[in-house]
Order: sequence, then structure tokens, then C-alpha cells
Amino acid sequence: MDLICIKRKYRNIRRIIIFSFILIIFIYAFIIGNYVSERIKRQKIFEEDFAIISKIMKEQEELAKIEAEKPKPKILTEEEINRIKNIYKAEEKRVFLTFDDGPSQKVTIPILDFLNQENIKANFFVLGSRVELYPEIVKRAYEEGHYIANHGYSHKYSQIYMSSSSVLDEYSKTNQAVRNAIGNQLYNTNIFRFPGGSIGGKYNDLKNEAKCILEQNNIASIDWNALNGDAEGLKTEEALLNRLKETVNNKNSIVILMHDAADKTKTYKVLPQIVQYLRQEGYEFKTFYDILDEQ
Ligand SMILES: [Zn+2]
Repeated sequence: MDLICIKRKYRNIRRIIIFSFILIIFIYAFIIGNYVSERIKRQKIFEEDFAIISKIMKEQEELAKIEAEKPKPKILTEEEINRIKNIYKAEEKRVFLTFDDGPSQKVTIPILDFLNQENIKANFFVLGSRVELYPEIVKRAYEEGHYIANHGYSHKYSQIYMSSSSVLDEYSKTNQAVRNAIGNQLYNTNIFRFPGGSIGGKYNDLKNEAKCILEQNNIASIDWNALNGDAEGLKTEEALLNRLKETVNNKNSIVILMHDAADKTKTYKVLPQIVQYLRQEGYEFKTFYDILDEQ
């Protein structure tokens, strides 16, 4: 082979090497380029997903915050339930006027008129079935500052004392009736009075069970430690006043049982004399709001 041939061959080999080298660089650049663009794509998807998840979490946090800030119906604490249980223990002379079985047009309205005139606040243990008949009377009592408490729905012993849970059912039904009547869905009656009282009688064991169920649901129950005897068939207003005096009997903290059902006309007629007597004896008129608001 002459020198020219050798030089040509050498040049060809050099070209092949250079070409191969460039090709390798191109392939390498192509692979790297693909890899980088894939990484960028993945990174972008990850960032988008992360942004969506963050947005959802933020929205959920805001919803939880709104939910937490929403006003809620007042629920009694254990301490407040105990205050109601200890209502008869007090240093000062105080009286809670309570009216059961209403509302009625014939008796509740004159009672409200009188209390309004004397600037006295009282407590009404309403029946859900009656609240549905006369919602405007309950609304008035509530707006005039009286405590609207709960006496169940039916007042039929065979119904309310059918089971311990039926007491809670009647409480809830009445609670809703009161909310509808007063136009405040956040109101809770919170305090229950057993029809016929919480102790004794044929349903005693069931009432004890019901008391526990009520407490588990943050509901207090209360009876009375004085009365005017308006459910005892007394014939005259004087007899009612005397029955009251006899049961008040110098106690410091009294919860007086009275009724504002439609047939209890003597109750509102004797009320001015009862109020006068209690004032003379130095009692201050209170509602359950006062007890629950105590610090
Ligand atoms: Zn009753």
C-alpha cells in the first residue's frame, strides 16, 4: 500500500471515530433530555397534586372553624345540673314560682299579665302538646323573661312512662315545640319536671332510670318543696293561700308548684295574695336562669 492509500484509510477511520463520537453524544443528550423532561413533568404533576390537597385541607379547616364558631344550644354542665339538684340549699330567702301543664289562654295569660305588672319573673313547665296549640303564649312568656322549662309532651302516664327512653323522647319533642314557638332553634329547655313528680307511685323505678338517662343527656330534673294545692281539689282561694303558707313553712329556698292549665282559675286569682305574702316574708323572686348564670 502506498503512502496515499494509508493516509486515506487513516482519514476514514478518523471520520468514523468522530462520527461515532458525535452520534454517542447525540444519543446521550437525547436520553438525558428525555429523563430531565420526564422529571420536570413528574415534578409538575406532584406540585399540582400537592396544591389540590393543600386547597382541600384548607377548605376543610375553614369549614371546621365555621362549625366551631357557630352558636350552639346551651347544654348543662355537670356542675350546673348539681346546682339545680341543690336548689333547696341557700343562705338567702328566694322563691321560684313554677307553673305546670300550660300554656292555656284562660290561665296563663292572666298570670303573665300579673307577673308583668309586678315585674316578677317565673318558670313555666310547659307541655309540648299545649305549646303546639298556643305557641304565641310561650313566645310571650319567653320574651318577657320567664324561664321555659319542660314537662314532657303528653302528660299521659301510660304514654310518657311506657319506658325510660320515652321520657327522653317526650322531652325532646317538647323541646322542639318550644324552639318552634319562640322562633329560636338554639334554645334548650334543659330542666325537666316529671308529670306527677319524680318520686313514688307505680312508675318509681322507671322514673329513676329515666333520671339517669336525662342526666346522661345533660338534662336536669326538679320537683318542688312547696305548693298551693291547686291540684288537690281545694275549694277556695283562701284554702290555696293557706296550703301555700303551710308548705313554705319558713324554708329559705322554695320552689312552688302551681298549675296554669285552663281549669286552674283559682291559681291566677290567688296569685296576688301569694306574691304579697312571699314579699312580706322577705323572699326574692328567681328563675332558673339566675341559678344557671351564677358564677
Ligand atoms: Zn303536670
